Amino acid sequence: MEPSGTGSHSEGMDRDRQRQMCLCPQCPTYTPCAGDAQERIYCVVGRSPRCITEDLGCICPTCPITEELGLEHLTFCLEGTEAEQPSETPVR
Ligand code: SF4
Ligand code: SF4
Repeated sequence: MEPSGTGSHSEGMDRDRQRQMCLCPQCPTYTPCAGDAQERIYCVVGRSPRCITEDLGCICPTCPITEELGLEHLTFCLEGTEAEQPSETPVR
């Protein structure tokens, strides 16, 4: 038996849970292309490589992950992860 609760295992579990909680698929900015690619949690993984090009509003502030991770930015699908965005210009 594999020991349970190893770092990488629980991190994967956490990622799966965050993917399920992510509200991006309900967002006006999200596209069918992103849906086909099963893109989620841009706040953690960074920009959409090619599927999202136009900012039509962001519903991240209403997502439980924003609270959980203490996110101060939004529009991660276009602007990159929390860490990639300039800390001096929070837009929330
Ligand atoms: S904060 Fe935004 S990008 Fe992150 S999981 Fe929630 S809806 Fe998705
Ligand atoms: S990161 Fe924000 S703008 Fe982009 S799809 Fe998710 S909720 Fe919409």
